Amino acid sequence: MKTILRKTLLYKSGVEYADFCINHVEGCAHGCTFPCYAMMMKIRCGVIKNYKEWLKPKIVANALELLDKEIPKYKRKIKFVHLCFSTDPFMYKYPEVADLTLKIIERLNKDNIRSVVLTKGIYPKVLVNTEKYGKNNEYGITIVSLDKVFKKRFEPYSAPYKDRIKSLKYLHDKGLKTWISMEPYPTPNLAKQDLRKILKEVSFVDKIIFGKLNYNVKSTQFGYNGDFYHNCAEMVVDFCKNKGIEYHIKYGTQKKDNRKTEKIFAKTIPENFELRYIKQPTLSL
Ligand code: SF4
Repeated sequence: MKTILRKTLLYKSGVEYADFCINHVEGCAHGCTFPCYAMMMKIRCGVIKNYKEWLKPKIVANALELLDKEIPKYKRKIKFVHLCFSTDPFMYKYPEVADLTLKIIERLNKDNIRSVVLTKGIYPKVLVNTEKYGKNNEYGITIVSLDKVFKKRFEPYSAPYKDRIKSLKYLHDKGLKTWISMEPYPTPNLAKQDLRKILKEVSFVDKIIFGKLNYNVKSTQFGYNGDFYHNCAEMVVDFCKNKGIEYHIKYGTQKKDNRKTEKIFAKTIPENFELRYIKQPTLSL
C-alpha cells in the first residue's frame, strides 16, 4: 500500500454530531457512488484527480507520531474522536488500514479519549479486548439498504451488508456500544425498500443516526423528496423510542430539525468518571 506524510492529523469536525476527527488514509477503496462527498472535495481541492485515484488508498505513515504530538495539545478540548469522515477506518480487505486504526484507537484510549468509529467494513474481533482498547468506544456501521443489487451499484467494494451487521452484533453481544449510520438513505426511485425491515435487522444497537441523500441528481428529481424523508425520519424516531434506542436525525432531513439530539455521542460517561467525579464513601468506624 502506498503511503503519504501529513503535517497534522486531529481536527475539529464540522459534522453536527461529531467532535474531533481523524482521517489517517487518503482515498477509499469502497468507491461509493452516492456520490462520496469526501472524494468530491478531494477532487475539487486538487488533492486527487479522479475516482480511479480515490480507489487506491494511501496510508498516513506518520499518523501515530502526529498523535503523540497532538494529543497533549488538544486533550483538554476533546470529548471524543470520530474515525473517520473522509475515508474508512476498517476498509474491506485492507488489513494495513485496520492495523493502523487499531493502533490509533489504542493510543487514544491510553489517554482516556473515546473513539466513535464508523465503517462499511468488518470489525476485527480483537476489539472486545477492553484491557487494550477500552470499553467506552462506540462502534458503528453504515447501513442504508439490505439489497445486494443496490450495494453493487452504490457501495461496490465495501463489505456485504450481512457480514457488516454480523461483525457489529458480535461487538454488541460482547458488551460494547454499537450504532448505525443510516445515511445517505436513498429515495424510492433509487431503491424500492421497506425501511422497517432494515431497522428490524439492526434493532440491537444503542444509537441510530438517520439522514437524507444529498448531491444525487436522481434523488432530488424524486417528486416527494421532502415528504418522503420527513416520514422516514418519523418512522425512525418512533422505532427508536419503542426500542429504547437513542437517535439523531441529520439536519435538513425533517421539515423541522430537532437540535436536542445532536449531542448523541457526547453523553457517554468517560471511563475514569467514577474516580474523578464520584466522591468515594468514607468508612466511619
Ligand atoms: S466508505 Fe465513505 S469515504 Fe469510502 S467511498 Fe464510501 S462514502 Fe466515501
